[in-house]
Amino acid sequence: YTFDELNLKKDILRGIYGYGYENPSSIQQRAILPIIEGNDVLAQAQSGTGKTATFTISALQRIDENEKSTQALILAPTRELALQIQRVVLAIGLHLNISVHASIGGTSTRDDIEALKNGAQVVVGTPGRVLDMIDRRFFRTDKIKMFILDEADEMLSTGFTEQIYNIFRLLPETTQVVLLSATMPQDVLEVTTKFMRNPVRILV
Ligand code: AMP
Repeated sequence: YTFDELNLKKDILRGIYGYGYENPSSIQQRAILPIIEGNDVLAQAQSGTGKTATFTISALQRIDENEKSTQALILAPTRELALQIQRVVLAIGLHLNISVHASIGGTSTRDDIEALKNGAQVVVGTPGRVLDMIDRRFFRTDKIKMFILDEADEMLSTGFTEQIYNIFRLLPETTQVVLLSATMPQDVLEVTTKFMRNPVRILV
């Protein structure tokens, strides 16, 4: 089907078409609706499939523009990927009034704290910095309703396991979890069984 049939906010559709997308890719056709409906979703997908826009569109649809606290947290294994995701969220969300902050290692902690204080409805980050900001109470997690882990296999194989487990424990119990991974090794499966509820499984 088409993007028009997903019942998205008009301003998201404008963002999608303005960004140059005409039709949803396979993962977008299969994953966007279950995510918007609030299901936990486990997607095995490589880069190149359109996975970034999948969770971006879904997160934008679920965000309440009037609630200024952080509602969606997106984790990525590298700063570069986090920044790339931030760009996609900003581009597709261009016509929405939504703030997106990148909380990543190697940047000024002071700027990070300032941006979080001013309210960031979507935070895209790397596990170490995000956990640090949560631990130090600069990043309030009580209004988070979506936790998205991109390239989970990469994050877990590069030593972020403990940080990710700790972040899970600091999010509201009701948080929806969306996990994307190119492969499904044991450490990824362990996270899914520990932290996901009846996930919809999608193999692209
Ligand atoms: P990703 O899998 O997120 O790394 O995306 C791979 C590439 O596909 C990126 O250049 C995206 O901008 C592009 N892309 C994602 N969704 C679509 C779509 N529905 N139509 C055309 N290009 C897309």
